[in-house]
Amino acid sequence: MRTGITHLYTPGPTNLPEQVRQAMNLSVRDVRAHDQGELTEPLFDGVKRVFKQRRGRMFFVPGSATDAWRAAITNTLDPGDKVLMARHGRFSLLWVEMAAELGLEVEVVDAPWGDAVPVQAMARRLEADHAGEIKAVLVTHNETATGVTSPVPAMRDVLDALDHSALLFVDGTSSIASIDFRMDAWGVDLAVCGSQKGFMLPAGLAMLAVGDKAMAASERARRRRTAVDFAEMARLNDDGAFPYTPPTQLFQGLRAALDRLFAEGLEQVFARHRRLAEGVRRGVRAWGLETVARDPRFASNTVTAVRVPADVDAREVVRIAEDRYRTSFGSGPGPLAGKAFRIGHLGDLNEVMCLSALAAAEMALNEAGCPIQLGAGVGAAQGYFQDAGMTLDLRAVA
Ligand SMILES: *Cc1c(COP(=O)(O)O)cnc(C)c1O
Repeated sequence: MRTGITHLYTPGPTNLPEQVRQAMNLSVRDVRAHDQGELTEPLFDGVKRVFKQRRGRMFFVPGSATDAWRAAITNTLDPGDKVLMARHGRFSLLWVEMAAELGLEVEVVDAPWGDAVPVQAMARRLEADHAGEIKAVLVTHNETATGVTSPVPAMRDVLDALDHSALLFVDGTSSIASIDFRMDAWGVDLAVCGSQKGFMLPAGLAMLAVGDKAMAASERARRRRTAVDFAEMARLNDDGAFPYTPPTQLFQGLRAALDRLFAEGLEQVFARHRRLAEGVRRGVRAWGLETVARDPRFASNTVTAVRVPADVDAREVVRIAEDRYRTSFGSGPGPLAGKAFRIGHLGDLNEVMCLSALAAAEMALNEAGCPIQLGAGVGAAQGYFQDAGMTLDLRAVA
């Protein structure tokens, strides 16, 4: 038996607030109950508020964020359609593979892992597309593999400057509800998110925000779709129903999670993530280590990927933290395997939790053969947190 709590700093799934967990502890409801709409309608409105979306539709699809990607593509694009995608990390890479698998003609713009979406290179491809063959541009807002947040508005500016009609699709799985995201103001046509990151829920409820232009594209798309079909979902959702069995427990959890986000205030939630991330980054700097994110302007406020020295195996750091200190970090995916580990700092988190993460990482790094001064990173973060002011508490919704 082991005493105390386990510590979760993976960049998804994230910690479940107690209120969210309690809210999901309920018996199964009749999903066709006539009053189902009373639960779901405010959820659609609440999630749209988080996405900063007033126009278009919000859809809930049972499954992971990956399922939301699939739904986005199958509903709006036909096999043979050309799309432009950036590939600069594990998640953007997987999205490229899926698009190709679903028959799209994918034009990929590669950038080194650790860089943001290469907007200028994307712009050149769009500029050369005189015939307007590119139907959509797909970008990952926050590359969870590398800890890099890309400037989505810059991508919209490029499309507007070229008067290009391509749709703008954004994967916001590890940014939405933690980092500022603006569906309407940034001219995003379709955005996807999962439930297990900023929304502080278990995995299983994918969210899809679909703007008017993407809804129109779905009417034109010829691919056969069953159940997870925009028109069918929209028709049934208007009566509080779904063309599949919805995860009602997750809906109850979502209600509680939205209540927390709005009680804290979205802007305060973003500020807290900024503050926690900055504390973690200062800790990493005090260790004398570097982040995978190369340009500090694009360093993510939800996850920090830390590069270890060449003679240290980052997998060992993760293993030691897990085995000896019951602390979970993310490993380095793909080409970062052994070279980096990731500290997730998103969701239901505060300053002292981040200090614990740094403390456990210091011990694990040390034992894995990386000679850092114990307490160096913790001290740097403590100093910053003291100056920056602590997180407002949430007694109002406790
Ligand atoms: C976590 C994540 C995904 C995948 O989500 P699943 O729910 O595991 O399918 C996709 N994109 C990004 C950016 C992510 O962080």
